Amino acid sequence: MFAIALDGPAGAGKSTIAKMAATRLGMHYVDTGAMYRTLAYDMLRHHVDIHQENAVACALEQIQMKIIYDENVQRMFLGEEEVTDQIRTPEVGEATSTIAVYRAVRDKLLTVQRDLAQKYEVIMDGRDIGTTILPDAPLKVFLTADAAERGKRRFLELEEKEPGMHTLEETIRAIKERDERDMNREIAPLRQAADAVVLDTTYMTAQQAADALVQMAQEARSR
Ligand code: C5P
Repeated sequence: MFAIALDGPAGAGKSTIAKMAATRLGMHYVDTGAMYRTLAYDMLRHHVDIHQENAVACALEQIQMKIIYDENVQRMFLGEEEVTDQIRTPEVGEATSTIAVYRAVRDKLLTVQRDLAQKYEVIMDGRDIGTTILPDAPLKVFLTADAAERGKRRFLELEEKEPGMHTLEETIRAIKERDERDMNREIAPLRQAADAVVLDTTYMTAQQAADALVQMAQEARSR
């Protein structure tokens, strides 16, 4: 099945660009970060000590995560409760990269993600899609941008949701810290696959980046 593996650091614009391209290509957009976030959100709510691998592995058994695709929007649920919006806070992002280092967490989501790629033609965004989840994907793209630019984009998003609650400096620092943790973990670190095409979006609009991705996909599909 045709698939696009889209990896890159936080704030590079993966989800915005993937959503735009998926709609145009008639593919399914799969946001793997949202899956990790949903697990972390549940653990934070249940006061699980996320720095203890055993506690996290234990909590994982109890979590009833559900994913629903609704007109190409990926909606996340814990049991019957929708948490699609609640998982998008900086605090959940931090906790997510803490639990994303553990083997039990990664193994659980690896199966979910590979199953989706068997069922649908996917644009799957994450950190380890091209290297670990879909190593045979016909198209792999590593989307990146300067840390300062990524921080600025994230900051503007936060400002829209919670005006005056964050500073640009703090947002850039948090993004760099998260990248460090994601790149330096032992299992499935954030890394560009050897056969990935790099798309640097520092000086591109989302529309330009989506156009580039659509063109690459059309070329890869016809190969
Ligand atoms: O992409 P997003 O910012 O939602 O990802 C949140 C966190 O989830 C990342 O910082 C990373 O720690 C983790 N993640 C991961 N592997 C993926 C997707 C996300 O480890 N495939």
